[in-house]
Amino acid sequence: MRWGLIGASTIASEWMIDAIRAQAGHEVGAVLSSDRARGAAYARRHDIDTCHTELDALVGDAGLDAVYISTTNEKHRPQALAAIAAGKHVLCEKPLAMSVAEAREMVAAAAARGLTFATNHHLRCAGSHIAIRELISAGRIGEVLSLRVFHAVELPEHLRGWRIDNAAAGGGVIPDITVHDADTVRFYLDEDPLEVVARAGASGMGDGVEDSVMSVWSMPSGVMVQSHESFTHPYAHTGIEVHGTRGSIVARDVMTQRPVGEVTLTDADGDHAIDFSKHNLYEHGVAAFAAAVAGDGRPAADGEDGVKSLAVALAVRDAAASGRAVTVDYGRDAR
Ligand code: NDP
Repeated sequence: MRWGLIGASTIASEWMIDAIRAQAGHEVGAVLSSDRARGAAYARRHDIDTCHTELDALVGDAGLDAVYISTTNEKHRPQALAAIAAGKHVLCEKPLAMSVAEAREMVAAAAARGLTFATNHHLRCAGSHIAIRELISAGRIGEVLSLRVFHAVELPEHLRGWRIDNAAAGGGVIPDITVHDADTVRFYLDEDPLEVVARAGASGMGDGVEDSVMSVWSMPSGVMVQSHESFTHPYAHTGIEVHGTRGSIVARDVMTQRPVGEVTLTDADGDHAIDFSKHNLYEHGVAAFAAAVAGDGRPAADGEDGVKSLAVALAVRDAAASGRAVTVDYGRDAR
């Protein structure tokens, strides 16, 4: 499979180019950048043959089978629609778009062309999260009562740019991190949040966008979910706790791009350290995407998953802005 990169981004540079090249028979054939000099330097640095500055030229390249979109968030929709119109499979970064309607349009366009469309939610690709999901579904903690997500980090300096000051580009911690937490909760529980309440604010980094948020979500089953995301917490560990009638799972340092952390199950017999696979999260996601393109299974997170994580995040933002409980609006075609 030959890939085109739409966006000369940090995430492609740090993780995705390697994850694509780790798959047998996969190549990165071209990159698109809006800046010729920076794009050319990026292509050279990453040993990519072709650098385009026009979207039509990249998506019109008949030698490319798929695109990976990792530009700023407001560009995902037009770029995905152009790639789909040109017959390319699409792996798109989160948040898929700026609104649920836009995200639905992208997913529907790919479905209409019979193309694979996936969302790059890496956390559900982690061995730790897969192990936790399996513990829950095997009944190891009984009936789930509550879930708490700890995802307050210090945003690394090189990622601060548009994320902390550009609402029009999709900045803010809610589109950046809450979407991942929404996806992880849905992955664990196989159900979609119904309603949310939230408080958000700027605590030292955000300029015109929130850098911190706490929210509480109600689930159809009655499970209570609490989630905390921030860009401004240098010493906070990340984690997730799932509490049930017969046990609790506490996972530490697992809300991350790396295959690290610890998972402990506590029940009537005491504490049990849970072993999990330490595979690369992004390679796992690209492998599932490639298999789906080949007709074997589904992507780790498909388009519908990306629509739903965005819907939850936007509801959290609305709830924080209004001070009211907000019903999550998944759009017209929710399954
Ligand atoms: P970057 O800021 O690195 O890149 C985004 C865009 O900014 C690029 O497309 C590029 O434009 C432009 N750009 C990059 N470097 C420079 C520079 N030095 N000067 C001027 N412009 C520059 O973004 P990220 O890689 O952090 O994020 C990109 C997308 O990926 C976002 O949607 C984000 O939410 C998502 N993401 C997902 C992660 C995950 O784990 N799933 C992790 C991190 C990000 P051009 O292409 O035109 O050159």
